Amino acid sequence: MEKSGPGFNPLEATCGLMVVCTDLEGRYTYANQAYLAHTGLKAPPIGALVLEHVAAEDLPRVMDTVRRALEHPGQAFWVEFGRPLRRAWNRSRWELVAVCDGSGNPVGLQWMGYDISDVYRRERFQEASLGLLSAGLRESLCAKEVLRRALDAALEVVPVAQAGSATLLYPDGQFHFVAARGYDLAALERVHLHPGEPLSLSRHIQARVFTQADIAAFNARLDPERRALLEGPGRSREIQAMLATPVVVGGQPRAYLYLDHFQRPDAFDELDLRHLEGLAYHVAWLLYGEELRFGHYHHPETGLANLRSLREWLLRLPPAHRALVALRCRSLERLRRLEGERAHLAALQEVARTIQANLRSSDRLAWEEGTFWLLLEGVTGAGEVYAVLGRLRTEVEAALAKRWPQLDFNTRAGAALAGPGVLPLELLCAAELALEQNPRPGRVYFFDPDLARQTRETDALRGALVRSLRHLPDPPEGFTLHYQPVFHLVERRLRHLEALLRWNHPGLGQVSPGRFLPLVEEEGWMSELGDWVLGVAVEQAARWGVAVAVNLAGGQLEPGFPDRVAGHLARHQLPPGRLIFEVTEGVALEEMGLEVLRTLAERGHPLHLDDFGSGLSSLERIVRLPFAAIKLGQGFMASLGSLPEPHSPQARLLHALRGLAEGLGLEIIVEGIETQGQLEFLLAEGFVLGQGYLLGRPRAHYAEAELRWLCRGSP
Ligand code: C2E
Ligand code: MG
Ligand code: MG
Repeated sequence: MEKSGPGFNPLEATCGLMVVCTDLEGRYTYANQAYLAHTGLKAPPIGALVLEHVAAEDLPRVMDTVRRALEHPGQAFWVEFGRPLRRAWNRSRWELVAVCDGSGNPVGLQWMGYDISDVYRRERFQEASLGLLSAGLRESLCAKEVLRRALDAALEVVPVAQAGSATLLYPDGQFHFVAARGYDLAALERVHLHPGEPLSLSRHIQARVFTQADIAAFNARLDPERRALLEGPGRSREIQAMLATPVVVGGQPRAYLYLDHFQRPDAFDELDLRHLEGLAYHVAWLLYGEELRFGHYHHPETGLANLRSLREWLLRLPPAHRALVALRCRSLERLRRLEGERAHLAALQEVARTIQANLRSSDRLAWEEGTFWLLLEGVTGAGEVYAVLGRLRTEVEAALAKRWPQLDFNTRAGAALAGPGVLPLELLCAAELALEQNPRPGRVYFFDPDLARQTRETDALRGALVRSLRHLPDPPEGFTLHYQPVFHLVERRLRHLEALLRWNHPGLGQVSPGRFLPLVEEEGWMSELGDWVLGVAVEQAARWGVAVAVNLAGGQLEPGFPDRVAGHLARHQLPPGRLIFEVTEGVALEEMGLEVLRTLAERGHPLHLDDFGSGLSSLERIVRLPFAAIKLGQGFMASLGSLPEPHSPQARLLHALRGLAEGLGLEIIVEGIETQGQLEFLLAEGFVLGQGYLLGRPRAHYAEAELRWLCRGSP
């Protein structure tokens, strides 16, 4: 080919270098092929104004460069500009040199330039990425906000995109729309996409472009409701090209970014794809950080704020009057043991939701290792704490009633009140200590300095207790059973013996069951220790030929309990009627133990309701259990005094109770008879069964002859 022959224009063979000439008025006099390709013009625009092809925002700079080039012939001046296209980048960089006539006067300009669109897009991508990353890290954005900003950045770096949206994987396992530009987000929020749906737009794990055909195929398989939403507010029928990329965190898509174009199926090019993917990496990084942060401050399975959050609140919130309450709910703990983690988790979430819904917006809830923490703002006294807890109990129990009728929200609570001068984190220790010291469900213990002393003592006791119990089922060190007689008062004859646990520790001396039993329960030894008591009591009952009553704690009423009892009876050949069980109202009212108690009664064990009158006696619920007798708590005798007055209100109450028990077909055993006066009063009132120091103190041993004599009675 005659490359240098006539007709060959070297300006055309520039390998993509653009060449343009203009006259002094800025009109084209020449434009080469490369320029035509860059601008998309069919023919050189001879005579047209070059500035018409410059984006408005670049005009001042270009005009200034033109002026300088004309003023300094022979010198080259550089300028960069874009073309006046809406929402697309087409950018070039030019060298301007004045063209002069024979006498050195400028007659026009020669422009030599090259396309820098891709470089420019890369720079914009870098800027947008940096902006997104730095905002995400600086402002600790939540996942939703990260995606909102990422969508804006994506629309910046992919300017042919005309609309866009983003979805995020929610705990329900579905992708929810969390950001939209050009669409009605409120409408899209109602569309949840399942990752497993066939042909789902949320199944690919790499950026790719979908066409209208792909979208139509996806929509065709959707249910009418979601389809209507996507086709209406989501304009999915109009989309010609959709650029989509997953945000992959830990190997799993956590979110998707979608960019849409409504005119051409080939609107997106390779660089758009790569840039969107690049943004998705940054989003992944931010979401990963957010997950780490969330995990740091929240319990992983429930999503509830943890103790770390609570500490932050305490430190961050201005010092104020507030109460911190720690709550433990035994029936939730039992649910975990009896029905497993899943059931426990579901119930726990229901409880937390209800608590949250019933707290004021300034109050906060945290949860960790079985303890709920309530931070109540603006609280100055115990009365307010009682009011909140009372309300929560009612609401939570109502919320649980449908799915978990066996659960109650009768919590053990420890509370600490903060005023000026109390260090924020002291509140935490104080509430924790108060909770630790509180043995009883339904009670609130408030911290006071005495508690710290008591706690040290309790700790010593707990340590000694655990050392004594750790070899169970071997006999626990220092533990014995004492037996206290229950008498037929009229016939003056032994009815049965109540087995009472005693603990004698070499260092601590005699420790009362009221003190050590709650610790046994807390340490989780109740079931094993109870079994040991049962074994010893059954053996003794068989040997003595006398019925024995054993006290039961709530922690023992597990489904396997009746069979373990049967095992003991079989070993010592004791008929079930000879083994009585005493349960307090608190234990009897726990829904979880009801079935076990009913089974015991069905198998022939007399059930005695212990310490009646010491709690919130709920007759309505008590009659649901087949009790054989109720034992009137010692409070009745104590309030009567040593020489009871027959017409006192207390005496009338006892009288009424006897009538009530008779009506229900229950025997009454009066506890705590200490004086002759009390005994005579009871006999006169027609009470026939009783127990107390007057009649016999608890003792470890009875001679067989003595027992025979006691059983025979003396008229
Ligand atoms: P409880 O079942 O109501 O037992 C009666 C308590 O009253 C016993 O106290 C007994 O010693 C005491 N008592 C009896 N007569 C009189 C009296 O006339 N005056 C006075 N002031 N007290 C009298 P103890 O042995 O300290 O037991 C306290 C509680 O500990 C028992 O109350 C029972 O609920 C629980 N308990 C004792 N042994 C066991 C056990 O083996 N298992 C379980 N789960 N609880 C037990
Ligand atoms: Mg008892
Ligand atoms: Mg009692």
